[in-house]
Amino acid sequence: MMAQYLKLKADAQDCLLFYRMGDFFELFFDDAKIASGVLDIALTARGEHEGAKIPMCGVPVHAATGYLQRLIKAGHRVAIAEQTESPEAARKARGSKALVDRAIVRVVTAGTLTEEALLDARTANWCVAVGEAAGGVAIAAADVSTGRFEIVEVAAGALSAELARFAAAEVVAAEGSTLTEATTLRPRADFDSARGEDRLKRLHGVATLDGYGTIGRAGLAAAGGLIAYLDHTAKGALPFLRPPAVTRSDRAMAIDAATRESLEICVAQGGGRAGSLLDAVDRTVTGAGARALAADLSAPLMEVAAIEARLALVAHFHDDAGLRERVRAALRALPDIGRAIGRIAAGRGSPRDLGQLRDGLDGAWRLGETLGRLQDAPPLLTDTAPRLRGHGELIDLLTRALVPSPPIDAAQGGYVAEGYDAALDDLRDAGAGGRRAIAALEAEYRTRTGTTALKIRHNGVLGYHIEVPARAADALMAADSGFTHRQTLAGVVRFNAPELHEVAVKVSQAGAHALAAEAAHLEELTARALGMREAIADTADALARIDVAAALAERAAEGGWARPTLVDHACFEVIGGRHPVVEAAVARGGGRFVANDCTLSESSRLWLVTGPNMGGKSTFLRQNALIAVLAQAGSFVPATSATLGLVDRLFSRVGASDNLARGRSTFMVEMVETAAILAQATPRSFVILDEVGRGTSTYDGLAIAWAVVEAIHDDNRCRCLFATHYHELTRLAERCDALSLHNVRAREWKGELVLLHEVAEGPADRSYGLAVARLAGLPPLTIKRAKSVLDKLEAGRAKTGGIAAGLDDLPLFAAMQVEDAAATDPLRDALDAIDVDALSPRDALDALYRLKTVS
Ligand code: ADP
Repeated sequence: MMAQYLKLKADAQDCLLFYRMGDFFELFFDDAKIASGVLDIALTARGEHEGAKIPMCGVPVHAATGYLQRLIKAGHRVAIAEQTESPEAARKARGSKALVDRAIVRVVTAGTLTEEALLDARTANWCVAVGEAAGGVAIAAADVSTGRFEIVEVAAGALSAELARFAAAEVVAAEGSTLTEATTLRPRADFDSARGEDRLKRLHGVATLDGYGTIGRAGLAAAGGLIAYLDHTAKGALPFLRPPAVTRSDRAMAIDAATRESLEICVAQGGGRAGSLLDAVDRTVTGAGARALAADLSAPLMEVAAIEARLALVAHFHDDAGLRERVRAALRALPDIGRAIGRIAAGRGSPRDLGQLRDGLDGAWRLGETLGRLQDAPPLLTDTAPRLRGHGELIDLLTRALVPSPPIDAAQGGYVAEGYDAALDDLRDAGAGGRRAIAALEAEYRTRTGTTALKIRHNGVLGYHIEVPARAADALMAADSGFTHRQTLAGVVRFNAPELHEVAVKVSQAGAHALAAEAAHLEELTARALGMREAIADTADALARIDVAAALAERAAEGGWARPTLVDHACFEVIGGRHPVVEAAVARGGGRFVANDCTLSESSRLWLVTGPNMGGKSTFLRQNALIAVLAQAGSFVPATSATLGLVDRLFSRVGASDNLARGRSTFMVEMVETAAILAQATPRSFVILDEVGRGTSTYDGLAIAWAVVEAIHDDNRCRCLFATHYHELTRLAERCDALSLHNVRAREWKGELVLLHEVAEGPADRSYGLAVARLAGLPPLTIKRAKSVLDKLEAGRAKTGGIAAGLDDLPLFAAMQVEDAAATDPLRDALDAIDVDALSPRDALDALYRLKTVS
């Protein structure tokens, strides 16, 4: 057995091996140590290997799912080795002591789950592979729980943003890859583009991939790597993947990982959903709807027409509250057919999954009827409604074939409805007749023996048998009693009898035949459902789309949100904007959120926002970024009105000291992230910078903030909101013509600071730092002391012109760049003078030596 175990363990590589022994999965050696720690179960020992006791632990098969979940959550992978033959078969084939054959039937990993219990109903579970070929990069992503499959050509520099969009449970890359996001490395050969093309064709049984759109070589490499990995984990039983949706990363607004984190789009700072934008917006009533909404918010669209189509559907549900309520009530009752067909396709479907398909498709059909009859329906609805119908035959079949609520476990039967199969009904009648006969026998035996406590019972070992209390056993023991003794236990004695045996055989035969008949029906029904899987998945998508639109309408109605207008030039006009998450928090505290306008335009595209701490600067910045996300995702926005020019890239950075918890050199991180913005932001981008430069000394910080604002203004020319407490930066208004000054208003009233949370034009009149400190509860004596220090500092500043004294003589940023470009560079000149093709190796070496000496 150990030899077999060690061989399987070698195959399992870095996975924990669940080794099936009867009713348990056992783990040995280091696996046992790891698992017993994570699962908090007893570590025991068994036998010896190379002179040492073998550590061992085990989990019962019937409860394995819960244990698997904890191991996967803790970051492990688990290979499952099942017995592939019965002990009887092994004995028959290889003698009484034969070892049962075992094989790894599946590798359970975070990215390849289909079990309901292991997945969150409202979150997609992506497994992503990264492929590189011909200088391009692409991502292939699959959610095997629903069969979603995407291939994304990634624009230069956009890989980590694209990976952040999927928030994948697993990221697969080729061995040797240095990708920091990679969680799983697989052989390079799996990522070969030519093989990838073959794999993709075979997967979908097509001769050409043209029907899917143009897939580049990197896309084929990624798809190949992904399919090979899924094949590996499913041990050949490849899960259901739909035809790939082929897209390009630049078809969606680019939002990098740092920005997603800082804006808390789908996940809040603490790692949970609560407090995120998604959480504040999500009113979906189905798991599929919640997953689709998360996907929409993660990838806001870049095409006005597509956004308008979504908005029109939301508007339709927004304006017709009665319709919205009816649709949502209907959706609420529907099971998750996308995941049900996913489980069925993965070979882990149950009768209940078929029941879910029946109920879900039936509900979809009826919803489709309702929606199809609407007057003045927007085009997206006219397109979607027919996708909800069209499974009439399957619904009829499943309705006739299955009982109203089929069980999860097929082993006990009882899921095929009466009247579906006459032969099955007969077998069941025979079984029921047999059981009636047994009941009659029981009554007869009681009379015959005069023992009213006599019972006919059933168990797995004896089958049907007669049981009497020990005190009454003598009468049945007599040789001519007609009963045969089988077993004596404490207090009871068990017997058999020929008539009982005869009936029992009939009952159990009928039962076995009935089970077999049901199993055959299950197989047939499963095959019929699988034949329709693509269409079923499409219906699931359509339902999700309806749910998302109705939910966004509900949210908009609830919060008085407005339909945004999207335009193609770089404006940004939000009137009466609000922050959905902060607004809810303020409302919970009994306060009222102050709405603010943000009107960026060509001539005023960079706003410098100053004002006291806690004044509402961050909130203002973020609410505008979130409004851009919501609008392009096709949602109404928390504002009185909004006219927005499409945003191609969104950036949000927060000064380091807000992020101390992250434990890296925070100033370094801040600078790296800021560098990324300067390198990537285009005139169509939208950037919010919150106290950038704060993570270092005042002088350094001010200098960096100054230079960054100039670069964004002169070079990137994107729309930008820049919050700062460096009052000195307001001088930039004089030299940057598209920069304007704004402040969050505050007042001191009877010695108390009143934060108005109102964004007004012009610079802040003062910093109110001491007033904020008082508000925060710093002791009065300390405040008083700080005040006298401040007076001294300010007096000094007045004399010297403050820390920004002298900045007025700086050359302009733009002028500096021109200067830089024009500056002569002798090395460059020397290089330009070399004609590489005309050089002999010897000349080349000389040239190199010469270049070393050029200064
Ligand atoms: P700052 O960035 O200026 O330090 P924040 O944006 O973090 O300030 O806001 C601090 C707090 O003020 C928020 O947590 C919220 O409670 C409140 N606040 C911010 N903006 C508003 C607003 N527009 N209306 C009402 N309360 C607000």
